[in-house]
Amino acid sequence: MTLIESTPAHAGASWQRDSALIAGVWQRCAQTSPVFDPATLAQVGTSGSATAADVDAAVAGARAALPGWSQTAPAERADLLDALVEQLRERRDELVDAIVAEVGAPIAVAREVHVDLAITIMADFAELARTFTWRTQLGNSTLLRRAAGVVGAITPWNYPLYQLVAKAGAALAAGCPIVVKPAELTPLSTYLFADATVAAGLPAGVFSLVPGPGRVIGSALTEHPGVDVISFTGSTGVGKTIATVAAQNIKRACLELGGKSASVVLDDADLAEAIPASVAAGLLNSGQTCSAWSRLLVPRARYEDALTLAADAVAALKLGDPRDEDTDLGPVVSADQKNSIVTMIDEAVARGARVVCGGSQTPEGLETGHYVAPTILADLPADDPAVLEEIFGPVIVVLPHDGDDDAVALANHSEYGLAGAVWSGDTDRAIAVASRLDTGQVDVNGGEFNPRAPFGGWKSSGLGRELGPVGLEEFTEITSIQL
Ligand code: NAD
Repeated sequence: MTLIESTPAHAGASWQRDSALIAGVWQRCAQTSPVFDPATLAQVGTSGSATAADVDAAVAGARAALPGWSQTAPAERADLLDALVEQLRERRDELVDAIVAEVGAPIAVAREVHVDLAITIMADFAELARTFTWRTQLGNSTLLRRAAGVVGAITPWNYPLYQLVAKAGAALAAGCPIVVKPAELTPLSTYLFADATVAAGLPAGVFSLVPGPGRVIGSALTEHPGVDVISFTGSTGVGKTIATVAAQNIKRACLELGGKSASVVLDDADLAEAIPASVAAGLLNSGQTCSAWSRLLVPRARYEDALTLAADAVAALKLGDPRDEDTDLGPVVSADQKNSIVTMIDEAVARGARVVCGGSQTPEGLETGHYVAPTILADLPADDPAVLEEIFGPVIVVLPHDGDDDAVALANHSEYGLAGAVWSGDTDRAIAVASRLDTGQVDVNGGEFNPRAPFGGWKSSGLGRELGPVGLEEFTEITSIQL
């Protein structure tokens, strides 16, 4: 392994892994795969690479754990989840370093968004296990919410810890053992989470980790008859495959897929507030956020002002070393991801896009990592692929609108519907517009992220919801008892 100067002290033995956690035991995999730092390109760790037989063993371990875990009193599960939260808190700095090293996220973003938010969500699920309504009365029926069985979870590389906790927190609180396959690019934080589950004393088989390629391990998990619910976050293409396979076995598939969310600025909004906030949200995590506001819809009469403000907001962001506390934007995750983003920028430019700032050239002085300049594109028609397709990089497309109805029509002109925003000087007007957007979440005038609010998508953005009580319900089945 090449250890470079800026590699954090934590990059020791705990990042050199060769195993899968199966039925509570770390079992060595036949193969390993390297983990690279997107900023330095150095190898920072190693992951085990499991086989389909390992998936069989992990699912068998989870099934063996199911009766005990699902029958454990919710308050007792909550106590164990509290212990897990404590273990995660103890590992906070190492988790932050691992996220910086594997995702390339700036350290301040890694700390606040990737790690602290994930720990908050885990603590929230511990609390929910205590307070969730497991039993309700409906006339002469008693409705029981029961653990839905063994969960298979497949996570992406953009927020590896947050996505893991959104699934594992809900499943474990609901009484479901979970078998997790992390993205190949970013397994380190999942290994650290697995260490925390062992240290917290979760019973064997309740949390299992089988790292490895999506086509092998992800498919084996999806197809496995011993998996009752498959929970996936990633691309819409793979999501469709998973939904198709799950349908063969009438298996529930919870899918968090792509997005092309719109930030809608109405004509009475304060542009000086709305535009920089929209740009910051659109570029968070180098734009590799499924709920990123990658479309910015502005009043036609204020189009040029909005473009100037957007360019100013981008100019104020610092792109560079993710280990620098002042950095706002790091690299994107991989060479493939960079190629895909710059190709989409070039193609948009060839179709007539105006590059307001940024562009496909590698930013000067940042030739080593997978850096992409934060880019604002304008003057594209509403049906342009750059307007319709997810770019999943630091690229925002600005479109003019002709009033509230036109803005709603433009915002809804998308195969996706995951998130969005509305900005207006009149809150009631903003809420009226927000209520017409066919999307899972809308933030009005910079409304804060609520980790208990259901998160998920309409249309091709997915099926089901994560987080909070609605997210927990995804991992339950109902039995209705009549007297
Ligand atoms: P992906 O969908 O290929 O991978 C996501 C996860 O699915 C990974 O763990 C992967 O190993 C696994 N996987 C891959 N093929 C599988 C299969 N056939 N069966 C089961 N599991 C499989 O996404 P990616 O390659 O990591 O990224 C590609 C694009 O996906 C991105 O450019 C972006 O548009 C989108 N994406 C979206 C999100 C999101 O949060 N919505 C997250 C990451 C990526």
